[in-house]
Amino acid sequence: MRLILVGPPGAGKGTQAVHLAAHYAIPHISTGDIFRANIKGGTELGKLAQSYTDKGELVPDSVTNEMVKDRLKQDDVKNGFLLDGYPRNTFQAEVLRAILAEKESPLDAVLELSLDDSVIVERLSGRRTCKDCQTSFHILFEKPAVDGKCDKCGGELYQRTDDSVEVIQNRLSVYAEQTKPIINFYREEGLLITIPAEGDVSEITDRAIGALSAAV
Ligand code: AMP
Repeated sequence: MRLILVGPPGAGKGTQAVHLAAHYAIPHISTGDIFRANIKGGTELGKLAQSYTDKGELVPDSVTNEMVKDRLKQDDVKNGFLLDGYPRNTFQAEVLRAILAEKESPLDAVLELSLDDSVIVERLSGRRTCKDCQTSFHILFEKPAVDGKCDKCGGELYQRTDDSVEVIQNRLSVYAEQTKPIINFYREEGLLITIPAEGDVSEITDRAIGALSAAV
C-alpha cells in the first residue's frame, strides 16, 4: 500500500498514521517528525527547519523534496509507505509523482481526514506531545494516566511551539492557501478518498480501513 494522509493540522493525521501503518505493515513517514528529530538533534537541517516550523510556515520545497526523495530510497519502502504531512503543496505533489514514476511505484490512494476549523483550534491548543516517542495526548480529551508523562514510554510531554493559538491560525491559513489545492490535484487523479475525522481514534481508523479496502 502506497498511501498519503492529508488533512488540516489537528485532524489527527499523526495518530491515524501510526495505526494505519501498523495495519498495513508499512513505514510511517512524517516530514514533521523528521524535522522535529533534526531540530532536537541540533543538525544543520534542524536549524534551518526550525525558523519555519516555529512560525507555522512551510520549510522550503527544495529542502523538503530532497529529504523525502532520500527517505524513499531506503529499503523499508519496498512494500509501500504512508506519507504523513507530505506533500503540502502542488509543487511537492508533482515532485512526488515524478519520484514515484521513476520507481514505477505509483500511489494507491490519498486519504483525506476532514474536520471543521472550530474543532481544530480546540484540538491543537490542548495537544501535548511526547518528547521521546511523539505520541499525542490532549489535556481534556485524551489525558495521560500521569500528568505530563507519556503513557507509552514515560517520556516528558510538552506543547509544540507551533501549537500556540497564533501559530495555529497561521498553520490553518497555510493549509487553506497552499495545501488544500492538492486535494483537487488528487481528486482529478482519481486517488482521493475523504472521511470525516470526528469520533474515537479507533472508530476513525476503522472508517479509514473500510474506505481504503472499498477503493483500493
Ligand atoms: P506537522 O507535524 O506535519 O504538522 O509539521 C510541522 C511543521 O513542519 C510544519 O508546520 C512545517 O513547518 C514543517 N513541515 C512538515 N511537512 C512539511 C512539508 N511537506 N513541506 C514543508 N514544511 C513541512
